[in-house]
Amino acid sequence: MAANYPEYIWQNGAIKPWAEATVHVMAHALHYGSSVFEGIRSYETPNGPAIFRLGDHLKRLYMSAKIYDMEIPYTQDVLAEACREVIRRNGLTKAYLRPVAYRGLGGFGLSAETPIDVAVATWEMGPYLGPGVLEQGIDACVSSWQRFAPNTIPAGAKAGGNYLSGQLIAREARRLGFGEGIALASTGLLSEGAGENLFLAFDGALHTTPASAAILNGITRHTLITLARANGIEVIERDLPREYLYLADEIFMCGTAAEVTPIRSVDGKPVGGGVAGPLTRRLQGLFFGLFDGRTKDEWGWLDPV
Ligand code: PMP
Repeated sequence: MAANYPEYIWQNGAIKPWAEATVHVMAHALHYGSSVFEGIRSYETPNGPAIFRLGDHLKRLYMSAKIYDMEIPYTQDVLAEACREVIRRNGLTKAYLRPVAYRGLGGFGLSAETPIDVAVATWEMGPYLGPGVLEQGIDACVSSWQRFAPNTIPAGAKAGGNYLSGQLIAREARRLGFGEGIALASTGLLSEGAGENLFLAFDGALHTTPASAAILNGITRHTLITLARANGIEVIERDLPREYLYLADEIFMCGTAAEVTPIRSVDGKPVGGGVAGPLTRRLQGLFFGLFDGRTKDEWGWLDPV
């Protein structure tokens, strides 16, 4: 086993060595993308390691499963404890957690009633979009790939198959030398990043694309909306045309993996002054403050490991 993998993983009810958590090559999910998953982070806090919004992430996992008629054979409490346990057993504190429920071996037809297998992995992860990006920001581009239309694949489910779209967007952006790609929805209006939600700032107010713009209803997005409003910053959920990317005072992306990543240019045009602006910095401070104690967790978002 490669030394950089963690030692333990949780699969179908038990902690086991990483190398033993395998899937059959004829598992349904491998062929048809029939999995649902979450990405969750834990942070070191003054009160010890804590998982951020664990309950909300698991709730979304069950909602994604419901959309695809997948009955997860464990309660949310069991999966929450599995998340805490893999972190403890691997001796991690600041980590990324990946619960996944997938159609396993048990039928080859599209509508096959296969067993639903579940795993929870965890590993150490730094800034998702590369070292230094939280401070310096990234150069983004608008993708030539659109997000799926709302009556094709539901963007609100965090399902494995959705991430074919995300891979096309992210890989095209990297190939062209950009840090991340931003997709338009089938309406032609702005959607979101390959794996991140999008915020634009105009005149001190934040604008973010709505659930109807083929976005994943991000938990970081909700966190930032809540923190902004609690601190007197106006947030407007609205349709946004592409050209607003070139006119915004500030832009940032957010997600569990990307956290709050400033965007310093789009399609080669600088955003504002080409560095993270004051509102972006403020939101970063409020967000990361939840973990170092500078922002009071009034919402019970931190779940001790
Ligand atoms: N959009 C997409 C497509 C994503 O994959 C993610 C990451 N899960 C997000 C947005 C951000 O969601 P969250 O803040 O819940 O991680």
